[in-house]
Amino acid sequence: MATIGFIGLGVMGRPMAANLVTAGHAVTGFSRSTATREAATAAGIPLAESMADAVAGADVVITMLPDSPDVEAVALGDGGVLATIAEGATYIDMSTISPNVSRRIAEKFAAAGHPVLDAPVSGGEAGAIEGVLSIMIGGDAATIEAQRSVLEAMGSTITHVGDAGSGQVIKAANQLVVATHLQALAEVIAFLEAQGADARAGLDAIAKGLGGSTVIDRKTASVLAGEFGPGFRAELHDKDLRIVMDAAQSSGAVLPVTSAVAQFMRSLVATGRGGLDHSALVVLARELNGAAAS
Ligand code: NAD
Repeated sequence: MATIGFIGLGVMGRPMAANLVTAGHAVTGFSRSTATREAATAAGIPLAESMADAVAGADVVITMLPDSPDVEAVALGDGGVLATIAEGATYIDMSTISPNVSRRIAEKFAAAGHPVLDAPVSGGEAGAIEGVLSIMIGGDAATIEAQRSVLEAMGSTITHVGDAGSGQVIKAANQLVVATHLQALAEVIAFLEAQGADARAGLDAIAKGLGGSTVIDRKTASVLAGEFGPGFRAELHDKDLRIVMDAAQSSGAVLPVTSAVAQFMRSLVATGRGGLDHSALVVLARELNGAAAS
């Protein structure tokens, strides 16, 4: 059993840390906001007074933070993980961030003698609560094997996808697919409604054929009921599509459809709806078809 410092106890980090506690690991958590800390305590996660207290003495440090600047500041900043982590301890970042930032962080930890993994996840809050996340990991195989019991407490699919930063590349690709599938769902609903067709019946039929998708299976009911509470906030998916487009730009990849979908996600944020679930793309699709802005 490992001694784990867990930084970032939000929607995802809280249930992930709780599952580590349940699996018998000695977890000490830290998160910035008071509300998050109170929720973590209620979930049975022991907390430290400061980030340094959570990190010192841990043989594994995990971060689950919103964006690249957050991870950079926590990992490399003054009094951050690199400055306080125990000799030879392992650092695992499970946030979704830029592959380039992830590689830079990995270089610094490796240079200081720390095994390091980028291990972003897919599966959402439900997957985190159930401990069945898909974890896509960049780093070396020996470190993954050494941390298998930690990883398996949070996820049921543990995939080694390559060197440092590769986990973030695959996660970015995952977010590209999910966003384009969501936009397809949004437009098929706008199309069916414009035709006066029964969207529910239409999507039930589509779901069984080649046009079916996990997005249609999981999102149709809530979208048609007008329920857009997160779930996965549009502002986080906007951040992920920025990561995709920046990475595409730096490698010269041409992604015209993803680029358009990224603009729709951006528009949700720009119109004050970044806190809604990413499936709120359907609201924009309806507005483009004449529905009153909501
Ligand atoms: P969140 O905003 O709910 O949680 C992030 C937590 O980090 C917050 O509790 C915040 O207080 C804490 N935090 C931020 N800066 C901090 C700092 N400097 N020090 C300590 N704590 C700090 O976000 P989330 O939904 O849990 O997502 C976390 C990451 O996981 C993101 O990168 C997101 O893209 C990714 N992700 C989210 C989902 C999802 O469904 N929500 C699914 C897969 C991946």
